[in-house]
Amino acid sequence: MKGTFDVLPDTGTSRDSDIPGSAQWLDAEARIREVMRRFNVREIRTPIFEPTGLIARGIGALTDVVSKEMFAFEREGVDYVLRPENTAPVMRAYLQHNLAQIGGVQKLSYIGPFFRAEQPQKGRYRQFHQFGAEYIGSEDPRSDAEMIALMMAVYEAFGITGMRLRLNTLGSPDSRAAYRDALRQYFAPHVGALTETSRQRLDKNPLRLLDTKVEHERALVAEAPRLTEFVSEDDHAHYGEVKRLLDGLGIAFVEDPLLVRGLDYYTRTTFELESDKLGAQSALAGGGRYDLLAVEIGAKKPVPAVGFAAGFERLFIALHAEHLADAQYAAPDVALVALGERAADWAFRTAQDLRAAGLAVATDLKGRSMKAQMREANRQNAPLVLIVGDHELDQNEVVLKQMDTGEQRTVADADLIAAIQGI
Ligand code: AMP
Repeated sequence: MKGTFDVLPDTGTSRDSDIPGSAQWLDAEARIREVMRRFNVREIRTPIFEPTGLIARGIGALTDVVSKEMFAFEREGVDYVLRPENTAPVMRAYLQHNLAQIGGVQKLSYIGPFFRAEQPQKGRYRQFHQFGAEYIGSEDPRSDAEMIALMMAVYEAFGITGMRLRLNTLGSPDSRAAYRDALRQYFAPHVGALTETSRQRLDKNPLRLLDTKVEHERALVAEAPRLTEFVSEDDHAHYGEVKRLLDGLGIAFVEDPLLVRGLDYYTRTTFELESDKLGAQSALAGGGRYDLLAVEIGAKKPVPAVGFAAGFERLFIALHAEHLADAQYAAPDVALVALGERAADWAFRTAQDLRAAGLAVATDLKGRSMKAQMREANRQNAPLVLIVGDHELDQNEVVLKQMDTGEQRTVADADLIAAIQGI
């Protein structure tokens, strides 16, 4: 299916894609959860689909994601979409369950699939996977700085290098409205030089002109007024605190006045993490403060919040580029090889006992020859093979073979678990 993939039980990176096998996914998820644990962040799980209205208000009806890229369906007169991101769903859950009553700041994280009907390319899929966090309930700059520190700690846990953290402040919707006007005025004498797309953007949302890729437009953008000039003193002070706190943590960043988000509920801090390993889709993760989202989706008063979202597939591309993607499934502790019907029955039951004792056990499920079973045990890299036939059964014994040395010994049936665990 276009823009989707299967995660196979294969180890390492699949031959024809950037998508690694499931061992690598499990390893990555475990590392991310471990970082979340250290920051005392709790996981939240919300439905894969949400009412279209929530997502449209939560992302903005004019964005590409909402206007062009939704996987939508209808049931019993209600319109739904597969979730394209998680900030609005998490805020919905926070409001719906009145998590504010628990007190303090709600520090929430998630891992899961998201859906956008984009044109697939390297690092861009239609079902992709994100991990992220949302801190809800504090406007303190420490909340912003810790959120960034959390995001960076994840990439550090993987040993990724060559990253660039871009930072900016968006101020308030009022400052952005004033800035939009200023941009329109600035570009007015240059309209003739703009592409059709840029002219439309100038009309609808001039902030989007700032990330134009057209060379001569970039030259114009370089001379354009800066949002920073329109941001209030309070917002500047907040931004100053975030930067001071990041400096204190030794987290390097570059200020980028062109890093903007057009939607009205974004406020103050905004950031993006890029990697030079990713090519055109260079963003590993992005986030910022969204103090006005709660009101946008139905709350009576603003709920200050900040968050980030990061792509798994891009993380894997970066890991692969740095040769850090090496998680593999562990081999079974022991493989059972049985000769004959009675022995096969015994092995089938004994496998269960060994599993109950915590051992990972491989067995034959196809009634294959002993030779084929040995070959399979080898293929699976089992360090120990337990061999049993009629003779051993009659003696209440089994043969344990250590695969690295080839050493074989006979063990009494009753001592089997202790013998395996003792090796
Ligand atoms: P966004 O919600 O658009 O800010 O995206 C957050 C992060 O998710 C990006 O920085 C990417 O790493 C990742 N991402 C977004 N869209 C896709 C996609 N279609 N395919 C793969 N990763 C994506």
